[in-house]
Amino acid sequence: MKQANLTSAQKHTLLTKLKTELTEFEQQLTRIHECSAPVKLDQQAVGRVSRIDAIQQQEMAHASEVQMQRHILRIKQIFLDTDEYGLCLECGESIGIGRLTIHPIAELCICCQSEAENS
Ligand SMILES: [Zn+2]
Repeated sequence: MKQANLTSAQKHTLLTKLKTELTEFEQQLTRIHECSAPVKLDQQAVGRVSRIDAIQQQEMAHASEVQMQRHILRIKQIFLDTDEYGLCLECGESIGIGRLTIHPIAELCICCQSEAENS
């Protein structure tokens, strides 16, 4: 099987980083859950404007929640099959240590990523 162009030390560093990120994401998700509780619209003290604020905040919280869940899922996937970690899901080439250091959950190499963004 093809393996990414990473030394085992580099891979170890990246996986350790991902493990830390996973913990952080899960903590953040718990916090988001707490602040995205349904807005109470019937509260007398809350004016119309702050109600809109509250709803917008809730939507933003929801958006980052979705993104967070995606990240968590991705990290869990990586740990299910660490042998393939560092390979582009699209072309199967090594993603490269530079890119992975900045963005350890990268699924695509820089070429496929820019193609995906331009399409
Ligand atoms: Zn690729």
